[in-house]
Amino acid sequence: MSNREIYKEALKLLPGGVNSPVRAFKAVDCQPIVLVKGKGCRVWDADGNEYIDFLASWGPLILGHSSPVVIEAVKKAVERGLSFGLTNPYEVQLASLVVDMIPSVEVVRFVNSGTEATMSAIRLARGITRRKYVLKFEGCYHGHYDSLLVSAGSGVATFGIPGTPGIPEEIANLTIVVPFNSEEAVRSAFEKYGNDIACVIVEPVAGNMGVVPPKEGFLSFLRDITKNHGSLLIFDEVITGFRLSEGGAQELFGIDPDITCLGKILGGGMPVGAYGGRREIMSQIAPEGPVYQAGTLSGNPVAMAAGVATLQQLKDQNPYRELETNTKTLSESIATLLSDKGIAHRINYVGSMMTVFFTEKKVEDFESAKSSDTKLFAKFFKALLKEGVLIPPSQFEAWFVSTAHKKEDISQALERIEKAIRDL
Ligand SMILES: *Cc1c(COP(=O)(O)O)cnc(C)c1O
Repeated sequence: MSNREIYKEALKLLPGGVNSPVRAFKAVDCQPIVLVKGKGCRVWDADGNEYIDFLASWGPLILGHSSPVVIEAVKKAVERGLSFGLTNPYEVQLASLVVDMIPSVEVVRFVNSGTEATMSAIRLARGITRRKYVLKFEGCYHGHYDSLLVSAGSGVATFGIPGTPGIPEEIANLTIVVPFNSEEAVRSAFEKYGNDIACVIVEPVAGNMGVVPPKEGFLSFLRDITKNHGSLLIFDEVITGFRLSEGGAQELFGIDPDITCLGKILGGGMPVGAYGGRREIMSQIAPEGPVYQAGTLSGNPVAMAAGVATLQQLKDQNPYRELETNTKTLSESIATLLSDKGIAHRINYVGSMMTVFFTEKKVEDFESAKSSDTKLFAKFFKALLKEGVLIPPSQFEAWFVSTAHKKEDISQALERIEKAIRDL
C-alpha cells in the first residue's frame, strides 16, 4: 500500500490518523508520509522514497536507525522473554550506566516515557517539599502531564493551543510560567510565591521551541535561587541527556540539579524514561519512601537491553566532538545558502541539535522563536522532503544529527538542501 492509502485507512481508525499530533504534518500543510524502514541516517516511506533523516524519531536515535549493536542486543533479550514483571538483570545494568554517566544521579527509577518521568519527578518534588507550585518556562515542553502542559512548546506550540481543554483551572493555576532565560521573571515569581514553590523544571537547553540555548549564567542562577528557597531544581534532560555529552547538559554546563528526567536516547528507540537524583531524594520513592509511583512494564527487559547497548556504545565511542563538528558544518552551510538567497534566518545549534529559524531576531526565548516565519518554514519543509531530506514537520522542534550521519551524508544532504533552497 502507498503512503496515501495507508494514511487514508489510518484516518478512519486513529484520531487525525496519528498517535501523536505533530505526525499529521498539519503545521506544514502537506500529506504525511508513512515510514516503513530505517537504516543508518536514512529512512524509506511506503512509496519507496528515500530520505536523509534529521528527525531521528524526535531524538532517541543518536546512533542512527537499526544500529547493529542495538538490534543484536534486542534480539538476544527477546529470545529470553518479552516481560517478567519482576526485577531482571538488564535494569541493573542500565541503572549502573546511567549512574556512571549522569553526574548528579546516584539512584534512578525507570518508567516508560519522558512524560512519565517528568510527571513522577514533579510528584516527588511536591512530596518532599510539601509544597504545591511548579515553575516552568514558556515554550519548554515536558510531556503531556496536566501540570506541565501549560504554555508548552513542541506540538502545543505548533498548533498554537494556549493550553488544552481537559485540564481544570485549579490544576493549571498551580503552574507558574515565566519566559525562558529571564532571571528577572524567575526572581519576581519567587518573591511572590516564595516558599510555596516545590520545584523549577527546565530544559537546560530548550529543544521544544526549536533549539534555544541558556544564556550564560542562567542555569547557575536557577541552581542558586532554588537552593536559597528550599525548592528543588529539575533538569528535564529527556532530549539533552546522553546527547550534549555523555553526562548531558548538566555535565556540559557543570550544574547539578536535584532531579534529572531522562528518556529518548536512554531507550535507544524503545519506550523508556527515567528520573533520578541523589540517594536522599530518591529514597523518598516507594517502597523505600512514601511517594508512590509504579509501572507494570517499567524496566522492561527488551527496552532496557536496547538502552544498555546504546549507552555502552556512546561510552565506548565518545562521538560528541564529531557530532558537533558535523552539526556545525551543516548549520553554517545552510546559513550561507540562505544568506546567498537573501532569506532572513537564525540558526541555533548546541552539540548535535539545531534549528533553522526564519527571522532576523536573535532567538533566545519563546517570544523570539515565534517571530519565525512559519509559512516560509512550511515551504522549506516541503521543498526538503521533495529533495529527500526529512526534518521535523514543525518550526518548533530540533533537528538531530546522529553518528550515522557521516561526512559524505552531510555533504549529500547539503546538496539536496541547496536544491530545495533554490526552489523556495
Ligand atoms: C520528548 C520530551 C518529553 C516527553 O517524552 P515522551 O516520551 O514523548 O513522553 C519530555 N521532555 C522533553 C524535554 C522532551 O523533549
